[in-house]
Amino acid sequence: MLRNDKLDQWDRENFFHPSTHLAQHARGEAPNRIIETASGVHIEDRDGNKLLDAFAGLYCVNVGYGRQEIADAIAEQAKKLAYYHAYVGHGTEASITLSKMILDRAPDNMSKVYFGLGGSDANETNIKLVWYYNNILGRPQKKKIISRWRGYHGSGLMTGSLTGLELFHKKFDLPFDNVLHTEAPYYFRRPDVNMSEADFVAHCAAELEALIAREGADTIAAFIGEPAMGTGGLVPPSAGYWDAIQPILKKHDILLIADEVVTGFGRLGSMFGSGHYGIEADIITIAKGLTSAYAPLSGSIISNRVWDVLMKGTDETGPIGHGWTYSAHPIGAAAAIANLKLVDSLGLVSNAGETGAYLKQALTEAIGDHPSVGEIRGEGLLIAAEFVEDRETRTFFDPSRKIGPALATALIQNGVIARAMPQGDILGFAPPLCLTKEEADIIAAAVKNAVTTVL
Ligand code: PLP
Repeated sequence: MLRNDKLDQWDRENFFHPSTHLAQHARGEAPNRIIETASGVHIEDRDGNKLLDAFAGLYCVNVGYGRQEIADAIAEQAKKLAYYHAYVGHGTEASITLSKMILDRAPDNMSKVYFGLGGSDANETNIKLVWYYNNILGRPQKKKIISRWRGYHGSGLMTGSLTGLELFHKKFDLPFDNVLHTEAPYYFRRPDVNMSEADFVAHCAAELEALIAREGADTIAAFIGEPAMGTGGLVPPSAGYWDAIQPILKKHDILLIADEVVTGFGRLGSMFGSGHYGIEADIITIAKGLTSAYAPLSGSIISNRVWDVLMKGTDETGPIGHGWTYSAHPIGAAAAIANLKLVDSLGLVSNAGETGAYLKQALTEAIGDHPSVGEIRGEGLLIAAEFVEDRETRTFFDPSRKIGPALATALIQNGVIARAMPQGDILGFAPPLCLTKEEADIIAAAVKNAVTTVL
């Protein structure tokens, strides 16, 4: 194919990129990268640079790139039936089969799957359903949603408000009326360095109790949390956190939404983060790993408890007034079926646990002794290295120094993509779940070089 020399110009002139410094991009001050092909854990840009993608796109290409089985399933579905909607009881073989496959893998208390397109719209669905649920139960005051500081739940109106990261709020006038934030179980950033992990968990639980008492339990509908936090810094919860907070939610009849957009389908070394940490959710959000991003598809897995009320509700209101044109899109469903079969046949859930532990160890050996490495943490293939100016006093770098982005850039020069997380000097590693130990060693060696160059 003839090379299009105008692509770079067209990109800067026409394309509104998400989560991008628009002015710098348009003026050509920030580098752009046009990706052309990908295979396994590698992507290749149009300048011929081949990079090991240690963030699986946006932690979503779980089975790795270039899987023929998924491409074939998509092509066959497109030829057979590219689209039909799911309104008023319509379905396709793909969407119905997929809902069964998801329920077979989900915790026992789950009953149905509602399909969307991405994590944000799935969480918007969840909040609407929770409100509908409480209205049907005759509790119109019980509407507030609690999320955690640094939690990420999307970029929609409600989900952007629930997201506890400043960058996603700035200048958008999001509606915070029904949104409350509480402490995240981020032990490294505990308020007092001398606090034990157990004391910190007790502190998080006490904060939650105090918030509920202040607002009134009869005004709070649900708590939403990622089993292990993603965008906020790749933070596995402090030990005992979920055991400590679930009884509080139960006591106050507050529903629990487990946002498993990142953790669902194996990333932590278990099929779901809920199972991994003993979380008994009322609703589970799924997206990314559902199709490994070969097609856009998300879902809200609804428990029996919530479903029973929704059914009762439609006897009162008529058909539920919530739907997207592309709900349960057959091409997404076909991609997901092929993807989940691959996750099983390649043993990717157990590989995430095993290779994840190996990668964490390799990173610890490579840079763990460096005085600017504050912590290397992770669960399965969700791993972070957090950098600080002074490890002893836990002094953070001045954000204006942009240490995280500088490290990510240096890492690319060493052939590896990690993500500079949006808040704090944190390099995130969430590679495809098919990562091998040899590839983990390559990542660790590249990280060592990058750290030596920048710090
Ligand atoms: N929830 C979590 C935990 C996420 O990490 C993300 C995206 O990264 C979302 C929701 C939003 O998903 P999407 O970007 O597909 O809307």
